[in-house]
Formats: sequence, structure tokens, C-alpha cells
Amino acid sequence: MDKTLYIIIPVYNEEEVLPVSIPAFCEKLSDLIGRSYVSNKSRLVFVDDGSKDSSWEIIKEFSKKCDYVKGVKLSRNRGHQNALVAGLNYAADKCDLTITADCDGQDDPGAIDDMIKAYLDGCDIVYGVRSSRDTDSSFKRLSARFFYKLMRFFGVETVYDHADYRLMSSRAVKALLSFDEVNIYLRGLVPLVGFKSTTVLYKRNKRLAGKTKYPLSKMIKLAVNGITGFSTKPIRYITGLGITVSVASIVGIVWSVVRAILGLTVPGWASMTAIICFLGGIQLLSLGVIGEYIGKIYLETKHRPKYIIEEEV
Ligand code: UDP
Ligand code: MG
Repeated sequence: MDKTLYIIIPVYNEEEVLPVSIPAFCEKLSDLIGRSYVSNKSRLVFVDDGSKDSSWEIIKEFSKKCDYVKGVKLSRNRGHQNALVAGLNYAADKCDLTITADCDGQDDPGAIDDMIKAYLDGCDIVYGVRSSRDTDSSFKRLSARFFYKLMRFFGVETVYDHADYRLMSSRAVKALLSFDEVNIYLRGLVPLVGFKSTTVLYKRNKRLAGKTKYPLSKMIKLAVNGITGFSTKPIRYITGLGITVSVASIVGIVWSVVRAILGLTVPGWASMTAIICFLGGIQLLSLGVIGEYIGKIYLETKHRPKYIIEEEV
């Protein structure tokens, strides 16, 4: 096939794993090229996300030994999502299709064949979906399930059990890069791109070496980014709460006035209760209304494309 594939691999402090995973990726790519599955201009792009260990030196070393290996070094750690965008930007004009994969061997390279097959069948986006989570710790399993449920609750469109192992055609990558926003959450953005897409199941392997670079704090940050970047539902919930409290406060006011008329209260109680109920409701409702406008401003500032053209005849 004459299609050029760029595999984009983010790297952050991975000196333990790179000496094993770079040769494995090279072997996979040379196998694909050998079988004429992709062109011999295909490359591996390792994006060093500001590693503090010797990861970059290792990448440089391999780039001298193996023509397939390219390296891009970011000036400092900007996080996994930004590293992926940097790699996609680098690759967009150089290839026909890209695959993003973690550098720790967890994303089974065997799935690449199925992904390319789906691409050849006309899909622009192929999502790698985990078939099981046997190799994850029970904490990771539980937190991941909670994460996807939370996303659904807040109305963020995401592919269940899909991380960032995916194939994208170059036109899908270019469409994705036309989203100007700074706070990136690719798992939410890619479905917005559209085009024909499908999923490919793969087995999540154990990390080849080293430890996860995604501690709980980074996972929470990603989840918050996903929710606040894609959904104004939290603001809607405040408005809903405001309406509920306002209705309840009217009942509270009527109740306190009736008790006052019946002489069942001490002087001043009814007016105090009525004022507190009234103000509580009004304040929450006003916050919700203001929030609605802030939500609109927020979405406007993203300058997302209003549509993406798939075809013209
Ligand atoms: N990574 C990165 N920048 C970061 C954190 C992670 O580029 O700030 C890379 C990391 O080197 C790996 C991928 O993102 O290639 C996924 O990270 P990891 O495997 O640690 O996450 P997990 O699989 O445990 O969720
Ligand atoms: Mg991993």
C-alpha cells in the first residue's frame, strides 16, 4: 500500500521502558512495511513531554540507529493530551494516517493491523477499545468505571473504555486541529470531528517496565477538564436547584405566615423565615441564570468549527 502511517507516541520519564518499547515499535512498523501494508515512508514519532530523565537521549540514540524513529521534544511537561496534539501537528502534513499509542506497551500493537484494515474499509477514525481490564489494578478499574459514568451523567460524548489508542486519517487529524481550544480533552473532541468511525477491540497489556505517569491527581484533572470543557450541565443543575429551592421557599413563606396568623409563633419569626427562604431561592436562581450566560460566553470563546465538510460533489 502506498499510504504513509505515522505512529505518535508520547513519552514522559520513560527511561525504563523505552529501550524495550522502541525496538518493539520498530519491529512492528518494519513488519507492516515488509507486508506492504503501509509505505516505507512511514515513521514512529516519539514526543518527549519534557522528561526529566534520560528519555530524550534514548530517543535520539535510536533515531541515529533506525530510520523509522523520529523525535520531538517539548520544552517542558505539558501533559499527555498536549503531547499527543504536538505529535499530530508534526505528522498532519507528512502522512495519510496516524495512530496514537502509549509508549509502555499497554496498547497491544497487534490491534494496529485491525485498525489499518478498518481504515482501508473507509473509516476515518478507529477507536481502540479495551476488551478487558484484567491487567489493571482494582482501583484503576473502579476509578475508570466511575470516570465513564460521570462523563455520561454530565452529557460528555465519549467512547466507553477507549483511552487514546486510535487511528485517524490525515483529514480527520486536520479537522481535529481546527479546534482552537487550549484545554484539550481528546476523548471528547475526536467524536465531535465526525466522519465514518468504528471501534477495534484490543487486550490491554501489562506495562513493560516503569510505573504509571498518570497518578490520581492527573486523572482527576483530566476528568475535570473533560466535564468543564464539554458540558455546561453543572450550571444547568444549579439553575434546577435554584428553581426547586424557590418553589420550596414559597411553601415555607405560606407556612410561616399561616403559623403567624394562628398565633403559633414568637414575634419576628415569620418575617425572618420568609426573608431567609425567599433570598435563598432567589440567590440560587440568579446564580444559575448568570451561569447560563457565562456558559454561553465560555463556549463562544472556544471558537470551535461550526461544521466540518466530509465530501463535495
Ligand atoms: N505521558 C505524557 N505526559 C504526561 C504523562 C504521561 O506524555 O504528563 C505519557 C506516558 O509516557 C505514556 C502515556 O502518556 O506513554 C500514558 O501514560 P501512562 O501509561 O503512565 O498512563 P496509564 O496507562 O497508567 O493510564
Ligand atoms: Mg500506560
